[in-house]
Order: sequence, then structure tokens, then C-alpha cells
Amino acid sequence: MRRILWFRRDLRVTDNPLLSLEGEVLPIFIFDTNILDPLPKNDRRVTYIFDRVMGLKSSLRSLGLDLMIFYGDPVEIFDLLEKEGFDEVAASGDYDSYARARDTQVSMILPFNSLQDTYIFTPDEILKDDGTPYLVFTPFYSRARSLFGKAHLRHYTPAKQRLLAAHYEEITEIKGGAERSLPLALQSLGFDENRPEITSLELKVAALEKKLPAYAKERDYPARDATSNLSLELRFGALGIRELLRFLSEQKKRGIDTEPFFRQLVFRDFYACLLYHFPELAWKNYRYPFNGIEDQERFEAFCKGRTGVPIVDAGIRQLLQSGVMHNRVRMVCASFFTKDLLLPWQQGEKFFAQHLLDYDAASNILSWQWSAGTGIDPQPYFRIFNPWLQAKKFDKEAAYIKQWVPELKTLDAKQIHDERFMLSYCIENYPKPMVVHNEASKEALEYFKKRVAEGVKHA
Ligand SMILES: Cc1cc2nc3c(=O)[nH]c(=O)nc-3n(C[C@H](O)[C@H](O)[C@H](O)COP(=O)(O)OP(=O)(O)OC[C@H]3O[C@@H](n4cnc5c(N)ncnc54)[C@H](O)[C@@H]3O)c2cc1C
Repeated sequence: MRRILWFRRDLRVTDNPLLSLEGEVLPIFIFDTNILDPLPKNDRRVTYIFDRVMGLKSSLRSLGLDLMIFYGDPVEIFDLLEKEGFDEVAASGDYDSYARARDTQVSMILPFNSLQDTYIFTPDEILKDDGTPYLVFTPFYSRARSLFGKAHLRHYTPAKQRLLAAHYEEITEIKGGAERSLPLALQSLGFDENRPEITSLELKVAALEKKLPAYAKERDYPARDATSNLSLELRFGALGIRELLRFLSEQKKRGIDTEPFFRQLVFRDFYACLLYHFPELAWKNYRYPFNGIEDQERFEAFCKGRTGVPIVDAGIRQLLQSGVMHNRVRMVCASFFTKDLLLPWQQGEKFFAQHLLDYDAASNILSWQWSAGTGIDPQPYFRIFNPWLQAKKFDKEAAYIKQWVPELKTLDAKQIHDERFMLSYCIENYPKPMVVHNEASKEALEYFKKRVAEGVKHA
């Protein structure tokens, strides 16, 4: 069997199903121009991915293999590869709309062997008794817990594979049917180095062992380093989900309550399943016709971290400066965007997608739909986060806010959490809150009620 092993969201050799397939192999990675072309030339994620791909190449070399790196449109690349007489292309499943459309096209060129790797469950594993997908997380989670077993902890060991001769020393660019060799460097892809500051995977896993016992209690406080920070590694498969599950299983045997952390991993699966079964959710509301109201001034203030609402501005500035944002703050920001500012959730989703290091279509889109209350799960649209109370509760000392909004460093936490104070007091270089929360949320409610009534009338 002559196989192409296509690495995508599984940039590692440990416990990788691709390496468990016997035969003659051509391991490849594609820098996909459809994804790269619209990105700014200093996008941090491209440097991260390039580093990971080079790391993967060297790990494969230590196994007697290698990695051929392409640059171009995957369909065009497979059109050329097909002529070299392969039996199949093997790749782990990737389920967002673009990935599925791309894989369908590739499967028309070569038989496509889709393997399960990125998520705990396959998209059809957790279904209701009538075979339809769950729309609500809690029953999905109960089902997931009852079906979760040893098979989900399986470890894949490398099989005997023979490396096919190919160009491994450079990047092969395919454009308009022509092939060109480029030096093995990030600059060949037209990107500048912009390396995000990331703690090593080994240190993150070691730290998680210490964080797990208090995870449930601490995870909502952005000033505390209480979560795993592993979303980036999970996104690109630098850490395999089964390896993380086996680690949790070991911790559980030691008497640690791993359930709250496992629950978050199941959330990730839930969102991937939803987008798999309802790809139109990428742009369309599930139930309610809330489109929001476009407003360039509001949008720009939000994107610059200059809304005058400290917790929101802190989150956005953390995102812009580091590519990271704490989960609780993501929720507060998305709620403020869709409710207080009444902006279309799709715009906020796109903004996050441009900046999040861990950007994942399913998690981002469905989290934004959840925040906007557009109807896919039971977060009612009339539940509106109060950003001032959220800040007071989860960043009591305003340590997180002060870290990212230095203009507020000299104020007391009490003042920072007091909307009336912030509305009346002039702070150098820092704007007053652009909306008054109670008024804005009343307006939002009116708008939502009206849209629901119209939606029902038109149904
Ligand atoms: C508006 C909004 C947008 C988001 N966009 C993304 C995104 O693009 N990519 C992304 O990976 N996560 C996204 N999340 C989910 C969550 O914020 C991040 O996964 C989490 O903050 C990552 O930090 P961590 O690794 O320390 O998480 P931990 O708390 O340590 O959780 C462990 C892992 O579970 C998964 N996870 C945790 N919480 C969630 C959640 N609520 N939904 C889905 N998966 C979860 C992640 O893979 C995470 O690494 C979004 C949440 C919101 C509210």
C-alpha cells in the first residue's frame, strides 16, 4: 500500500493514528494558500505552525521518516500527487465547513481514509436515541460520560513504514500546475517571524497536575493561573486528546476530581459535533432572528479595547497583545458586544478569529452564538451579563484589569468596579463607559422581544 499521510491538526508523532498504518508512506504538510492568503503577514499563528511543522519534521526524521512540505491549494497539490500512483490519502478528521468541503474534493481525487484523532468522540458517536444530534450540552455530557471507556484512551504505536523518495529539503510550491522549490523558511511563505510567548508543553502538563485539584473552584478568575492553557496545543494536536485523557485517568486513580476538567473537554466535542451536523451555524442563527445593528464607531472602540468598561477593555487588550483571553473574560466580552453594544455576533466572532492563537471555528462560533442567545442551547437571550458585577466577582482586586489597562493602575478596585464612578470621573487617556449597562440592556431586551415577535409572526 502506498499512502500519503496528511498531517493537519495532529502535529506530533506520539500516539498518532497516521503512524500506525503500515506500508510505503509520503508524510506531508500543506501550507494552504486559501487559509494563508487573507492573513496579515505578521500573524503569530503562522510562526507557531511553522515551528511546529519543523518540530514534526525532525521528530519524523528520528523515526526514519520525514515530512514533505507543500505550499499551495490542497486540491491542486493532490491533483499532481495522484499521478504518482498512491492508493490513498490518510488524515485525521477535520470537521469545520471549509475542511469538510476541501476533504470532499480531495476524496474525489484519491480514496480518503479519515481517522479519528482530534476529538474524544466521532461526530456520530453521541446522538439521541432517535439518532439526531443533541442541541443541549447537559444531556450530551451525560451520554458522553456513559459511553466514555477504554477505547477512548487507546494508544497508537508506530507501525513499520517505509519512506518514499521525495523532495524533503525544501518547500514545494504548487501554483497553476507548476512546481517550484522554495527554501525551508517561514519567509518563503511570505510571512514575518512573530513568535508568540508560549510555555513548553511539558511545563504546562506538569503545571496542570498541580492545578487540577482546585480547577473547579479557581478556573473563573482571570488573574489566577488556574486553567491548563492547553487550547492551542489541542487545536493543532501538539498534544493528543487521548494522551490528555490518559493523564486525567492517572490523576483520577490518585483520587483527584478530574470531572470538571473533563467536562470542558466534552464541551469542545459538543461544539465540534454541533458544527459538524449544522454547518450553516457558521453564519446563521439557530432560532432567533437577532441580527444586531451594525455600528462602526462602537465596533472600533470594542476592537481597540477602548469601551470604557475595564473588564472588557482588559480582555481585548490581552487578546491583541498576546493572542490569548481567559474564558470568563471571553464570555463577558462576547455578551457586552452582542447585548450592551447590540452588534452582530458574526462581527465579534470574526474579530476573535483574527486574533485568538487557539482559534477554532467550532468553539468560537458556537460560543458566540451562545453569548448572543441565538437559540442553539438554553442560554436565554434575556439573560444579560452585567460586566461590572462580573468584574467585581471574578476580578475583585482588579489585578487582571490593572495588568492590561495600565491607565487604571492608580485607582482602587472599588472605583474600577463602580460604573457610576467611572462615568463621572475623568481618567487620563481612558474613555468613559460608552454605554450605561442598565439602559443598554433594557434597549437590547426591547430589540430582542420585538425581533422574536416579528419572527413568530413571519414563521
Ligand atoms: C466567545 C468565546 C470564544 C471562544 N473561542 C474559542 C476558540 O476559538 N478556541 C478554543 O479552543 N476555545 C474557545 N473558547 C472556549 C474557551 O474560552 C477556551 O477553550 C479556554 O479559554 C482555553 O483556555 P484553557 O486551555 O486554559 O482552558 P481550560 O479551562 O484549561 O480547559 C481545557 C480545555 O477544554 C476546552 N475548553 C474549555 N472551555 C471550553 C469551552 N467553553 N468551549 C469549548 N472548549 C472549551 C479547551 O480545549 C481547553 O484547552 C471560546 C469561548 C468563548 C466564550
